[in-house]
Amino acid sequence: MATIFSRIVAGEILSYKVAENERYYAFLDINPLAKGHTLVIPKQEVDYFYDLDDDTLEGMILFAKQVAQKIKAFSGCKKVATVVLGLEVPHAHIHLIPMNSEKDVDFTREKLVLTPEEFSEIASALRG
Ligand code: AMP
Repeated sequence: MATIFSRIVAGEILSYKVAENERYYAFLDINPLAKGHTLVIPKQEVDYFYDLDDDTLEGMILFAKQVAQKIKAFSGCKKVATVVLGLEVPHAHIHLIPMNSEKDVDFTREKLVLTPEEFSEIASALRG
């Protein structure tokens, strides 16, 4: 069965798209730690990040770099944290999170609740 992230790529489940090319897809995390919290995934369905083949892994980092530059410009944060963690969705992903302090990347913190309009505005700003 396709992962929820593959279903997002296929357009079967709504997402707030930030960037896409033939191999990768970036979209807003629906439970964000900060405005601009984005997930980067390979379209290839592989569970564990380090099981990705070298070429896909390398390309994913370069794709994430472009997205991170947009997040930094959008949010004005000091740095964009790049985090690979989580067991919830069995599809490799990188979290890109605007960061001004290490506390901003504490996944036990309460997540932001944003309206669909806010998600759309952020995604649109990051795509621009
Ligand atoms: P984890 O595998 O623990 O990194 O969790 C997966 C991440 O994907 C969590 O941060 C979720 O908030 C996020 N997530 C799960 N479903 C969706 C979705 N449909 N759209 C956007 N983000 C999602």
